[in-house]
Amino acid sequence: MAVKLLSGLLNFIYPARCPVCGDIIVPQGESCCLSCRGRLKYVEEPYCLKCGKPLAKEDEEFCSDCLRKNRLFDYGRVVFIYDELMSKSIYSFKYGGRQEYASFYAEEILKRYERQIKEISPDALVPIPLHKSRYRKRGYNQAELIAAELSKRSGVPVLPRLLERAKKTRPQKDLNEAERENNLKRAFKMGRNDVSLETVLLIDDIYTTGSTLDSAAGCLRESGVQRVYFIVLSTSQR
Ligand SMILES: [Zn+2]
Ligand SMILES: [Zn+2]
Repeated sequence: MAVKLLSGLLNFIYPARCPVCGDIIVPQGESCCLSCRGRLKYVEEPYCLKCGKPLAKEDEEFCSDCLRKNRLFDYGRVVFIYDELMSKSIYSFKYGGRQEYASFYAEEILKRYERQIKEISPDALVPIPLHKSRYRKRGYNQAELIAAELSKRSGVPVLPRLLERAKKTRPQKDLNEAERENNLKRAFKMGRNDVSLETVLLIDDIYTTGSTLDSAAGCLRESGVQRVYFIVLSTSQR
């Protein structure tokens, strides 16, 4: 009772913000506004069976990236299309100090992929790490926050220090494709070797070409992990 009163009072003083538009949630008690919920774009079938990106044609199985590249991850799934709505949401989450959005993201991931996570049965959730200097600047790793919330709800432990960035990589968005591949080769190293894992589920916020996840998966495999899957919050349309 006291807890309920307190949370009611807190919600009155600091009304919960919608993790999509950033406004006060209407109606109260929802995890995001109803109007935002209706506008969220989920990745729907057909999607690439390997990386989870949406496909143009129903009869395709894999996207052009996955057909061309030798993927080091087993497969992955993505929840949202990275449209204007999601880009605003993720921007506030990453740069606007809205760490609390992680719980909404985790709920959405589970709504979509709880069954798949159970099937995969990972030994650990591993967030894609930031480089140390970027981590210091931002104060938190957005992927780690999502993984922690997912862990709370799924019971799968999270190992935030399992992977580390090996060297400072240039921002991927400034590079062409060939440079990206090079940039990410050896981008990760193992942060600890006191755990032995068979199956890992990588967590990240934005999927672009999959090179980052490939690189992380390659590093994990070299250290003896046998299966590497991923769940990413959002990806561009195609
Ligand atoms: Zn909203
Ligand atoms: Zn693909």
